[in-house]
Amino acid sequence: MDSLDRRTGGVPARPTSHCHPTVSRGSPQYAKRPHPATPPQTKDTPMHIVMVASECAPIAKAGGLGDMVHGLAHELGARGHAVEVVLPKYDVLRYDRLWDLHKAYAGLWVPFHDQWIHCDVHFGIAEGLKCYLIEPHSAHRFFERGRVYGERDDVERFAFFSRATLEFLFKSGKQPDILHCHDWQTGLVPVLLYEVYEHYGMTHPRVCYTLHNVAHQGVAGEHILRQVGLNPRAMMTTDRLLDHSHRGAANLMKGGIVYSNFVTTVSPRYAQEIRQTDLGRGLQHTLNLHAAKFGGILNGVDYTVWNPETDPHIARHYGPLTLREKYRNKEALRQRFLLRDELRPIVAVISRLDRQKGADLIQHAVHYSIANDCQFVMLGSATEPALEETFWRLKRQYNDHPDCHLEIGYDEELAHLIYAGSDIKVIPSVFEPCGLTQMIAMRYGVVPVVRNTGGLADTVFDANYSEQDFYARNGYVFGDYSAPALEAALKRAIGLWHRYPEYFAQLRVNGMRADHSWSHPAQHYLDVYAHMRP
Ligand code: ADP
Repeated sequence: MDSLDRRTGGVPARPTSHCHPTVSRGSPQYAKRPHPATPPQTKDTPMHIVMVASECAPIAKAGGLGDMVHGLAHELGARGHAVEVVLPKYDVLRYDRLWDLHKAYAGLWVPFHDQWIHCDVHFGIAEGLKCYLIEPHSAHRFFERGRVYGERDDVERFAFFSRATLEFLFKSGKQPDILHCHDWQTGLVPVLLYEVYEHYGMTHPRVCYTLHNVAHQGVAGEHILRQVGLNPRAMMTTDRLLDHSHRGAANLMKGGIVYSNFVTTVSPRYAQEIRQTDLGRGLQHTLNLHAAKFGGILNGVDYTVWNPETDPHIARHYGPLTLREKYRNKEALRQRFLLRDELRPIVAVISRLDRQKGADLIQHAVHYSIANDCQFVMLGSATEPALEETFWRLKRQYNDHPDCHLEIGYDEELAHLIYAGSDIKVIPSVFEPCGLTQMIAMRYGVVPVVRNTGGLADTVFDANYSEQDFYARNGYVFGDYSAPALEAALKRAIGLWHRYPEYFAQLRVNGMRADHSWSHPAQHYLDVYAHMRP
């Protein structure tokens, strides 16, 4: 059994040769560095954990991935573990949220394809989190694109980031106990660790890899492997990185699954769905093969950021015992969007606007809500131009309507005000790995109406049909992805708001009292980390 086999519990044998075109292993700067002997660890020993990710709230956030990395890292730090985050130094970082930014490592040379790319590594603190930011200086301008994702060379950008991260850890002598990698963007980190850096002496770290959305797997031609110093001939097999549907292509997420010591995804239901249904997008076989090191852990919500009792972005603080104060936020939201002051619920959507999030049902919810005694507020950012155009058309249609406001774009602060001011939140996703917005909504006393999938199914329990205890019921759930199914659930929520306000208030309080903090999930991750250590 080779060393990879030992660590991952039966993954395929590592090839005997691997190539590293730019540097020979005998090169003095890669001389094997033995790691100093470490004392045996117990479950409670503080660990050194490095998160490697493409996002981390609040400085680089495109969605729930950024929230998760921040929330988990924050909770682990609060429990006494030494946590650091490595990110690309994007030009679009929220520099206003970074403290003490300075150069921490100058002159890091990273091998990439047939050249060495000169990088600097900066250090800064983002809401208490220690962050290392990798800044390459090359004609590629990898992280100076005015956005985080959506570039033609995304796979190359993040393959480079993965290589640069390991090079930085190696050169700076860091040997964390745990490397926690996220999504396809960092799928090559465990591959490079065990195929390249372990041979230079990085024998200590174990890798936990979290799948946030398997709809995006990072697929590219095999040249991508050569660029980061891997041997495609050895890697491109069905039990390693060869993609299942694109002939001859490498799949970075698959590499992350095969090479990591443990793989998680962001809810138990999604873990089951991606192993057993088409939602696995071709990864079902790989996930089933590695089932012994795979599980679902529900994300938490960072209650230091999302808390209506302390939130600096809302008009009036409130909690389950002062729910009446929530009304002040509803007034503020109406004033902000010039909606009329009428006795009707505000239905909200805060979402990326794409097919996964149920873009067509979101449009349907706008028409249905306005036609059924509600006001409708949306904050959404579209990634596809065609969908953006569709929502702009809808916005123009309702521009002067006193009961509707559609805001197209991304606005972190405004999101807080909408959570605080609205009554019902619609989340009609086609699939939803975890979904944070339903949990944030519940924290703010908003009743979610959701489709029965992934993390939505794990967190929202129907007011009428759930088998849960009365005090655990917190929303409305529908099954079919169809307009009639959405209408039926939304109709029940709107009807309750109008006819049984006390019971509606009880649903709000049930949601506010549910514990979706990072406390339980962080403990699960610590159990996983402890399980991986020898
Ligand atoms: P995703 O699939 O996009 O990661 P999640 O529900 O897991 O979805 O997380 C979405 C996160 O992004 C939440 O914190 C939500 O409040 C936030 N969000 C989504 N769209 C917007 C937007 N247009 N403006 C501000 N925040 C947004």
